[in-house]
Amino acid sequence: MLKKKISKILIGSNNKGKLREIKALLPKSIKIFSTSDFNLKSPPENGQTFKENSIIKSKYFSKKSNLICIADDSGLEIDCLDKKPGIFSARWAGSKADFSKAIKRVYKELNKKDKNWKTKKIKARFVCALSICYLDKIIASVIGKIEGSISNKIRGKNGFGYDSIFIPKKKKQTFGEMKFSNKSKIDHRSIAFKKIKKFF
Ligand code: IMP
Repeated sequence: MLKKKISKILIGSNNKGKLREIKALLPKSIKIFSTSDFNLKSPPENGQTFKENSIIKSKYFSKKSNLICIADDSGLEIDCLDKKPGIFSARWAGSKADFSKAIKRVYKELNKKDKNWKTKKIKARFVCALSICYLDKIIASVIGKIEGSISNKIRGKNGFGYDSIFIPKKKKQTFGEMKFSNKSKIDHRSIAFKKIKKFF
């Protein structure tokens, strides 16, 4: 456990969407650094779980910057696709981070699985592991999840990644149709963040 509250932190992500969301969760009083301040590339994500990958990133960026680092590893799990894309969510978009390509792949895999999938509820969830590390030491590592389903059409231009095809449970809009402030109140990242709020 940390004796003092964290007063400065590096957000260990090169993903602009995540960077914006993690920034919005952190208190305004904290001094925030980003990977671009240090010109840092992301490390290879060779863990088997969201948690392992978030720890790999957090330790890596902390050691490169000598700052406490918060890193997220997250993704979309679709139950009938054996939880794919899961930890491969970013990789389905290819090296150019083209999410129209990743979404096409989701629809292709669903078509392969069941031609009538569009008439069914396709259960899915977003998962986020958030880890705070200082050098090799893990200060905290937590998971947040939000349950929902896959929209049979791409809807909405807000957000990033798979937002335009994910409908959270009990809502009608996709994350892509929601205002940023509404998504960020309920999403997997904010659920994970509530568990580590005490450090700030
Ligand atoms: P990674 O954690 O850097 O491996 O990337 C996770 C990938 O999961 C992102 O590039 C997005 O494709 C997807 N993802 C994670 N969180 C969200 C979200 O809140 N909305 C949409 N897509 C997300």
